Parts: sequence; C-alpha cells; structure tokens
Amino acid sequence: ASKRPSPEGASPAMAQWFALKNENPEFLLFFRMGDFYELFFDDATAAASALDIALTARGSHGGEPIPMCGVPVGAAQAYLSRLIRRGFRVAVAEQTATPPSKMKGKGKVAAQKGPLPRAVVRLITPGTLTEDELLEPGRSNLLLALVAEPSRRGLPEWGAAWIDISTGQFETARCTDAELGHLLARLDPAEILAPPDRDLGEYDLRRTPGEPPSSPDTARARLAESFHVASLDAFGTFSDAETTAALMAVDYVKRSQAGAMPRLTPPMPQEDQDTLGLDPATRASLDLLRARDGGTEHTLFATVNRTSTAAGARMLASWIAAPLTNPARIAARQACWDWLRHDSVRAENLRTILRSAPDIDRALGRLSVGRGQPRDLGALRDGIAAAHLADTELARINGSEEKRPDLIERVLEDLQECAALHDELNDALADELPARLEDGGVIAAGYDEELDTHRTLRDDSRRIIASLQADYGERFGITSLKIRHHAQLGYVIEVPAAVGTRLRSREDLQFRQGTASLARFATEELSELDAEITAAAECAATRERQVFAALVARALDDDKLPALARAVALTDVIRSCASLAAGETWCRPVVDESEAFELVACRHPVVEAALGSGVRFAANSCSLSPEKRVMLLTGPNMAGKSTFLRQNALAVILAQAGLPVPATSAHLGTVDRLFSRVGAADDLARGRSTFMVEMTETAAILNQAGPRSLVVVDEIGRGTSTLDGLSIAWAVLEALHSNLRCRAIFATHFHELARLTESLPRLSLHTMAVRDWKGQVVFLHEVVSGSAKRSWGVHVAKLAGVPAPVVDRASRLLKELEREHTAGPQPLPLFDAAPSSQPAHNEPSGEVPIPDELREKLADIDPDDLSPREALAALYALKKIA
Ligand code: ADP
Repeated sequence: ASKRPSPEGASPAMAQWFALKNENPEFLLFFRMGDFYELFFDDATAAASALDIALTARGSHGGEPIPMCGVPVGAAQAYLSRLIRRGFRVAVAEQTATPPSKMKGKGKVAAQKGPLPRAVVRLITPGTLTEDELLEPGRSNLLLALVAEPSRRGLPEWGAAWIDISTGQFETARCTDAELGHLLARLDPAEILAPPDRDLGEYDLRRTPGEPPSSPDTARARLAESFHVASLDAFGTFSDAETTAALMAVDYVKRSQAGAMPRLTPPMPQEDQDTLGLDPATRASLDLLRARDGGTEHTLFATVNRTSTAAGARMLASWIAAPLTNPARIAARQACWDWLRHDSVRAENLRTILRSAPDIDRALGRLSVGRGQPRDLGALRDGIAAAHLADTELARINGSEEKRPDLIERVLEDLQECAALHDELNDALADELPARLEDGGVIAAGYDEELDTHRTLRDDSRRIIASLQADYGERFGITSLKIRHHAQLGYVIEVPAAVGTRLRSREDLQFRQGTASLARFATEELSELDAEITAAAECAATRERQVFAALVARALDDDKLPALARAVALTDVIRSCASLAAGETWCRPVVDESEAFELVACRHPVVEAALGSGVRFAANSCSLSPEKRVMLLTGPNMAGKSTFLRQNALAVILAQAGLPVPATSAHLGTVDRLFSRVGAADDLARGRSTFMVEMTETAAILNQAGPRSLVVVDEIGRGTSTLDGLSIAWAVLEALHSNLRCRAIFATHFHELARLTESLPRLSLHTMAVRDWKGQVVFLHEVVSGSAKRSWGVHVAKLAGVPAPVVDRASRLLKELEREHTAGPQPLPLFDAAPSSQPAHNEPSGEVPIPDELREKLADIDPDDLSPREALAALYALKKIA
C-alpha cells in the first residue's frame, strides 16, 4: 500500500475527509456525499477490489488524481456485509446537517458556504453489528474482550468479557492461559479485543488489537455507574482482569455506536464449574455447531434443531455449546419438553404461533442504539402479541399426569407480561409500517392530537389544491391544465408549451419554467398553499419523530420485555425438543451424580440423518459401568468405530444440555469434562506434524481428565512406527484405566492390546462385527464383545478400488508376514511382563536365513495358475536363487 497522502493543500471537503480518516485510521471511511458513500485513496483501492466495483478518480490532490469509488446509500447494506465478511472494518461518516436543496419553500436560499458538516456516526465491525441484513438470525454475534492478569506461576490468567450487542447479552469469565482456547471455541466470537502478543490460533484473524482502558478500580466504578448500582458486587464476583475486560468491551461498543449505549443486561460472571468442559479439539471432532468442512448442515445442532424462531435457535445453540453439569438444572429442562410432548396437537398450535413471532431481542438491540425503524417497534408489538397467544396455548396443554414443571410456570408468567406496552404500541402504530421513519405514516391516526392537527392542515390544503385544477382550467380556458407537485418548484400549473406562450403575459401567473413540450407557472394562491402544506408536513414529521422517540423510550424502559423475549425463545426450544422426542425414537435420559454410563440402542443422529431412508442405522448400546469402565474397541477401518465413539460423546452433550437423546434409554452420571479425539484434524498449517498434534492432544487428556471425565479416543499412536505407536497406546490405555480412573472408550487397530484384559480388570473388550461372505467383507456396524481377529485392511483396499494385482500382492504378503510373526519366539516380547524376553526382530541364532528374493519369487507364484511345464520352469528358477 502506498503511504497515506498528507492533507496539505486539500480541498475543503477533502480536508474534512482527512480529519475523519485520521480519527479512524484502521477503518475504511464511508464518506457520505449526497446519495452515495464515497471512498478515497487506499480505502478506494481496497474496497473497489473487495467489492468488484469500478475504481475511478475525483479531482486531484498534490497533482495526482484521487482514487475514488462509491456505493449508493440505498444499497449500502449489501456492500457493507461483503466488506465485513472479508474482515474489513468500516467507519460511516454522515452529513450532520440537511443540504439546502432539500429545504423547500421560497426565500430559503443556501446561506452556508463550504462543505456540509460531517461526522462519523458509526463504526461497523464484525462484533458490533445490529442490522438484520448483516447478522445471521440463529447465531449469536459476540464481541469478546481479553485482559491478561499476571500470575505468580508465569503464564497469565485471563479475564474475559463478551457482549452480543444485537441482543444485549453481557457475560464475563476468567480462565487460565491453557483454558483460553476452550473459551474461544465455546464462544466462537465474531471479533476479539486482545493484546497483540497473545497468539489466538485460528481466531487470530478476528482480533482487533486492544489494551485495557484503565485501572481495575476505575473500571469497577465506571461499570457500577453505567448499571446504576453502588458496587459491581451486586452482580457477582469479578476478578480485576474480568472487570477491565468488561469495561473495555463496553467502551468499544460505545465508540462503535458513536457514543450511544446499547441496552445491555448487567454483566454476569460465568462459573466454569457449572458447564461441561469441552476443549477445542473435542468441539472440532464432534461437529457441534459447525462441521469440520466449515458448513452448518451436518452438525449436531442442525440435526436436533426444530425451532421456529431465530431467538429459539440461538438459545438451543447456546445449550449445545455449553452443556450443564448440575443434574437438577438438567432435569428442569427435561421436565418441560417431556411434559409438552404428550400433547402434540397443542404443541403444533404453538409452532404455528411462534413461526410468525418476530425477533424481539434484535429489534430491541437496534432501538437501543438509536438505529431502530418503525418495523422494529412493530416487531415488539407483534412479538408481545405472539407471546400472549403462546401463553394461552401453553396454559391449556394437557401434559402428562404430572403437575406442570416449575420452569413452565415461570415461562407462563413471563409470557403474560408487557400487556400495557403492547396496547400502547397497538394504538400508536399504523397497521402497515414503512421501512423508514422519514417515509411518514408510522403513527396511526387518532393516537396523537397534535400530529392529527398537522396532518389535517396538510391534507386540507392538498384537497384545496386538487379542487383548484378544475377552477384554473376554466379560468384560463385550458382543459388540459394540470396542477403538479415538482421537487424544486413546489406546486405549479402545467400546460402544453403551445398554450404556454399565451399565458406568459398574464399578471396573475408567474412563469417558472419552460421545456420543449410544456410550460410551468405559479400563482400566489398556489405558493401560499404550498408553503402551508410544507409547513404542516414539516410539523407533522417533527411531531411523528417525537411520538416515535417517546414510544421507543417507553419500550426500552419496560424491564419485563427481555424476560418475555427469553420466555418466547425457551418455549420454542422446549417445543423443538418435544417434537424431537414425540416419535419415541429419542428418550429422556436419567442424569444424576452416579458413575453410571448406560446407553441402550443409541444412534449417531447426524450419520443417521445422512444415511437417508433406504439404509438402516445400526443402533449400539454402550455400558461403562464402574466394574468395566474402560472399553477397548478393535475392528477394521470403515466398520463404524469412529461413528460409535462420537455417538457416545454426542449422547453426553445432548443429555447434559437437557435435550433428548437418540437411544431407547439412557442413564448417565454427569461428566465434568469430555475429551473426544476422533479423526483428528491435521494441524500441519501451523507447522506441527500429525504425530506431534496427536501427542499434544494426548498430553492434554492425560493432564486434565479426572474420575468424572469421559474420554473417547481413536487410534492413538498411529502417526509413528508400529512399535513406537503400540507402546504409546499401551501406556496411555494403562494410565486411563489405572491412574485417571475415568470412563473411556479406546479404539485401536493394535489387536495386541487385547491381551491387557489380563492385567487391567476394569477393561472390557469389544469389536466391530464383520462377516466374511464368499471372501468379501461385510460390515455389520455392530459392537460385540471380543476383539478383532484380523484387520481386513486388504479387503478395504479392494473395496476402495485399489487395482486387483496390487490387492492380490498385498494379501499374499500379509499371509507371509503373519506366518513369520507366529513362527517367531514371541509376538511382541517388548511388552511382556518379564523384561528379559528377547525382542521380536532378532532372528533365532543358528538358522540359515532365507534370501528375500527367493521369498518374493515364491510369493509371486500361484500354483493354481500354472501348467505343469510352467511349474517345472519356476522350480528351476527358484533353485538358481537359492
Ligand atoms: P471407522 O471409524 O471404523 O473407519 P466410520 O465410523 O467412519 O468407520 O464408519 C464408516 C461408514 O459406515 C460411515 O460413514 C457410515 O456410513 C457407516 N456406518 C457407521 N456406523 C454405522 C451404523 N451404526 N449403522 C449404519 N451405518 C454405519
């Protein structure tokens, strides 16, 4: 990029541009000029190429043409959304006074010299969006601030605060440096304010460098003041770093809204112990909200989501992202959908009601930063109405025999709120609302007396004008005479050019404009009426703005509205779960403090959905009882090992999120941390080898898992040589079983590990059932007791289309190797209890080794394929080698 030109010698408008750009150097400056936002210099070059629009030039600066591009104001949202998605940040500079040409009426001439005043009214960054066009409806859009707190042990501890300004959610947490990755993966923030020296991994691209604004004490005081409490302790306990992070986030939001403060909930400190620990690798391996391919289709969320509102979808996503560990809270969620699923008719009615319910949270978000439009107020009106309908329907539900769950009682109360606000909005707002406040017609007739008076004046004058047309036609003897409203001239008489010349001499008509085909005249009467209409219309518009602002203030003031919106979302999530569980193929799991892990006929919901209707998913049970809490799973590739591993992990997530589980029945003692290492994504881009990644992740498990954890791992030790890998897998399995004492499923292709059942009493052996059908392998996808006898790798190679000669050669080599293996003194003496055993690769002494060439030639011979003469020739050839 070229260096920024200096503002010296700039034209007045460009001088303004330089000043605003200087205040916001890291932003693309959208500089309002009439009906366009224009960009200059490097901004123009960058935006033109990102948006694929024409780069032109305007005027010159320092003898050089100024590069420029522009986007029409009306279409700006689409361009903004593309820029934001490409990682740009945008500052929007508006004209802060009305241009004189827009002021109508005679006598008002531009009094002012030089450019219109302009100011940056808004910074648009990925984490501070409020516009529906820029947001994904069913997804939270978080701004995260991170502040390091030096700790005695060297690595910093972190204070984190995050805000979703589109909904007002505001939460904080603290974590160790090692846990920071977990937090990022859980929140998946759109933008991160973080010190530049901390590597954020894949989240680095979302960083906006930021430093904490002030001392913790000042931050505490300022936050307490913003939320009108004497002390921040009112909301919980915050560490110093948490507090400064919170203020940093608030200040950034304020700056982005040019000083307007959005409505935020008070900051809520999150206690990490209350949620299931899921590290980034685990999340990545389970496709919870985002799939490994980056899409959202084949995810757990997409498979269980039956919500019909955006707020419901966001709540469900947040449940999946942060499952609980407290059985009582889990049971409270379960009770709701379990109760609702027995009345499918009313549940369906609820769905119809909710489907048309607007997004109250996001409408409130826009209104609170002064960017609300008439339809946002309309959304509140319709949203409250939908909540009231839902309330009535929910109250009528014939749930199961049991009494209404407590959580439902609370939802019923919250859904009833805001009746007064609804009535007010209902009276005040027109039925059909325009897109923008300036379009007028927002407030219904009969609501505000003053507004009605101005409108009547305006309309009366218009009516008089309409009646004048016939009068004038008669008076001037021209039947084709029209009275028209003209943007610059106001109301004028329009006649054909030919008759126009005749009228030009008349005293009572002032000639205003002539074109080839017509002539325009004004009369004193018309000008007066015109001025009256303009004045009345201006008064009406002003008054309408006032009434609108009062309604907005009233809505923002209603402290029951956020609770009502939450209740709507909760109703939607409960209904979504009930619909999932209604078919009897999803169950309500028992979740308690025990050490149980019993899943009966459980399925992988995402794989099942992807199989389609023709293929049946083979359900599998899984039992990790305290006596057999570690399962060793062997079986060939493609037999369904990874699917089985993941489905057990997903069942834990669903169960602890309070959601239905795809199984006949389930009993789980809560898991505190879940570790899943299945099909680990390669991390080569970051310069670490696959094996290094695998070992780093193994280390993370061994260092963090405890007796309440669940570990599901696939093929540990695959990235290195066989003996190396086997030794590592062996040692890890022993550690899981005997030291960490966690529940675990350990899938491996090292069949040798099966021998460990002799020394590890709580190890159970399972394998994927495979049938040999006329030499072909058939995968049954069934988990059965025992261990695999063979690998079937050669069969899989054949299935995959490896050419027949290579497959044949491989299978002969395999037989050969197997024979050698069993002929040796010990299959793998390295692992025998007695360290004195001989290593396998030592040849027993005293025997003449068979030359490799002879072995190869022999293996190449298929006796069934040879004629007697060929056989004799082969024998001679072999003899020569020996
Ligand atoms: P592995 O990990 O043993 O290589 P996968 O778990 O990746 O095998 O499964 C391979 C394929 O087999 C899956 O993509 C799926 O189509 C199918 N599959 C796996 N488990 C089942 C099952 N229980 N029922 C039906 N099909 C399954």
